[in-house]
Amino acid sequence: MAASVSIDEYKVGVICALPLERTAVDSMFDNYHDLLPTASGDVNTYSFGSIGKHNVVLASLCERGRDMRRSFPGVKFGLMVGIAGGPLRPTTKHHDLRLGDVVVGCVNGVPSVINYRLGKETSMGFDIRSELAEPPEAIQRAVSALKTQHQREGPTYLKRLDAMFRKNPRLNRPQISVDYYNQPQVPDYLLEADFVHPQDAAGCEGYRESVDHVVARGPRFLRDPPADVGTAKFIKRREDSFTDYPNVHYGTVASADTLMKDATERDAVYQRVKRQRKADVLCFEMEAVGIVKGRQCLVVRGICDYSDSHKNDAWQNFAPATAAAYAKDLLLRIPPEMVSKSPRANDVIDEG
Ligand SMILES: [Zn+2]
Repeated sequence: MAASVSIDEYKVGVICALPLERTAVDSMFDNYHDLLPTASGDVNTYSFGSIGKHNVVLASLCERGRDMRRSFPGVKFGLMVGIAGGPLRPTTKHHDLRLGDVVVGCVNGVPSVINYRLGKETSMGFDIRSELAEPPEAIQRAVSALKTQHQREGPTYLKRLDAMFRKNPRLNRPQISVDYYNQPQVPDYLLEADFVHPQDAAGCEGYRESVDHVVARGPRFLRDPPADVGTAKFIKRREDSFTDYPNVHYGTVASADTLMKDATERDAVYQRVKRQRKADVLCFEMEAVGIVKGRQCLVVRGICDYSDSHKNDAWQNFAPATAAAYAKDLLLRIPPEMVSKSPRANDVIDEG
């Protein structure tokens, strides 16, 4: 049954860009609340509910974010949850990124979010000049605590994913092609950067194009998942029998207002950020750049492709589901009092 909660009691705002991202987050709610009237002129559509002890308002980014701030003055934290493309990282021991993995824009010592297209041409090449602000202190602490918990207890976010599928069985049926949110039956193949998707090919499924161009990657030897989700249907076992489930990585999110779908440019940006900022880009996306202005936002992204010409939709539902599961796992670790004590999210949303 829907509960009534007053506007001021919503302290956490989750922002999504795409409807499929919104569905993923919405499905993580423990309870749903009645709709509330919003500020006059606010054209956003919202969902209301709770995750653990937090009252959460969920909004789409496609409309004007500024309105959300006017309608919900109590919001302290912003979480941006959705999809992103991965970089090429075939041989790195750490951050061996696979489709469905989660990237959390929270890392010490280097920028959490970077606008890789904002900068200046110099005689030495393009100089990136924009770093976006870090997540708020309280979120950084919670992220760090959750990291420790995952080391000790294993990937507890899988429990959130499992619970979501149990509660929403319609999202866990692979035969319904557009509606499923479990791990797709499409192989996760990373293709060589110089192998461009043939223009005359209709769809893109890397393994059919040429196995010769697949970048070799070994098993990941991840920790055992929690016992109660070990047989969950959304986890696909790899052929070599090592359990492979979505992993979480903490690092730099590269954001810009245009789509990254060129492997050569992807690799060039990766190298440039590495050289200029000593940071490892863990994903490319398009939303954080417009929204992370202040110190009140955390970017959480599920990897759905490798930012190249082979980009396709196959993993676009599962990826935000894993990101949403992480976001929920994180919120469950943050005491509501800590949120209440935090400064108001004046800068969650860009004024523009
Ligand atoms: Zn292709």
